[in-house]
Amino acid sequence: MAKQESAAGDGLNDIERVDKEHVFGTWSYQKEVSPTQVVDADGVRFTTADGEEYIDFSSQLMCSNLGHSADRIADAVDEQMREAAYVSPGYTTENRAKLGEKLAEVTPGELSKTFLSTSGTEAVEAAIKIARFYTGKQKIISRYRSYHGATYGSISVTGDPRRLESEPGIPGTIKAPDPYAYGSTLDPMESVEYIDEMLELEGDTVAAILVEPIVGSNGILVPPEEYLPRLKEVAHDHGALLICDEVMAGFGRTGEWFGCDVFDVEPDIMTMAKGLTGAYQPLGATIVTPEIADHFEENMLCHGHTYAGHPAAVAAGRAAIDIYQEENLIERASEVGDYLGERIDELADRHPSVGDTRGVGLFRGIELTKHPEKRVPFGERADKISPGSTVVDEVSATAADQGTYVANMINTLIIAPPLPITEDEIDEAVDAIDAGLEVSDDAMEH
Ligand code: PMP
Repeated sequence: MAKQESAAGDGLNDIERVDKEHVFGTWSYQKEVSPTQVVDADGVRFTTADGEEYIDFSSQLMCSNLGHSADRIADAVDEQMREAAYVSPGYTTENRAKLGEKLAEVTPGELSKTFLSTSGTEAVEAAIKIARFYTGKQKIISRYRSYHGATYGSISVTGDPRRLESEPGIPGTIKAPDPYAYGSTLDPMESVEYIDEMLELEGDTVAAILVEPIVGSNGILVPPEEYLPRLKEVAHDHGALLICDEVMAGFGRTGEWFGCDVFDVEPDIMTMAKGLTGAYQPLGATIVTPEIADHFEENMLCHGHTYAGHPAAVAAGRAAIDIYQEENLIERASEVGDYLGERIDELADRHPSVGDTRGVGLFRGIELTKHPEKRVPFGERADKISPGSTVVDEVSATAADQGTYVANMINTLIIAPPLPITEDEIDEAVDAIDAGLEVSDDAMEH
């Protein structure tokens, strides 16, 4: 939405201007940063300082899975902060113990013991170190179309262009091809056999294969049903672990608790953040099997943070999981997600610039193309981290003009609304995207 013109002529209000001056925008050319002040948020909607209201069709950064008015989480955090704002890692709280127990319950199979941190990045960082310590091997295979975090370890295993400025990163990271049927020359199942061959050629030196079971910010890539089971087999055949990064796909987004549940696969290590607290507090978690946990009985777990298991954050995580369970939000996401999928497919029928629609549950992507037969993306991919004003940004901006916030990355609209969204709210947001897609239709090659 166009911001109201200010005296300074930059379109920012006083708060936004102070913020721009004193706080870095992430992953951005700072001259392009233009923060918008949010003053209220309720249910699936939020309101900006200029009085405009938006449907949040991307749960902000694909993390506000519970929407914006889970008072029960706010109360749990408030209560904990008044009881004991902080205890050092050698002490514990009821919330920390109960959260650990809950995570063992809702995660697949045997996964049972959790390392707590404060972000998805740190959850991945811990997964890398645990895999290396446990196997005694160094290498991590991850895939090109992936994002796993911003610190040196996690950016080194990230495959997308965000890694480029930080290269060469940590040693021992290797990238593999992705299950991307629409845009890759390799068939998704061939890409697993390629990884099998990579492992063979690397000898017995690979600690783990790290994947997002359903790729998030790199375009909502859903592999075929047989892909993840085969990948686990390939990893184990070569003495490597399977790490599933569930930071974005976890906590009901897919209509299952976790992305790997869609394929009935139990990883050896799993990372979580975002939906873990519904974004009410920063919290990351890395859960492992009993076998891996046992290893650290006699071997030191050389890892930890001051705020590992911070009382306020674990209080939020525990309350959030209670809400997912008591309000049956996972089943609900599956049902409403089917409706969302139908509505998105209708958009694909109407708009020639929609190249592909993908997804499961409330985790969907609309990939744009300027030439449907040749599948040519709008804008460039490889060298662009923050591409400025490309066609996909204009589609999002037009949807915002119609009252819907929808994130995009790499030529794809990322649709991931809060789980409590209703069909009526979906209709409203889909209409806004419908208007946005007129822009990409007009920008096609003829
Ligand atoms: N892994 C995945 C799959 C992610 O989507 C993200 C964040 N988008 C991360 C890791 C990093 O999480 P955070 O930004 O909380 O550090």
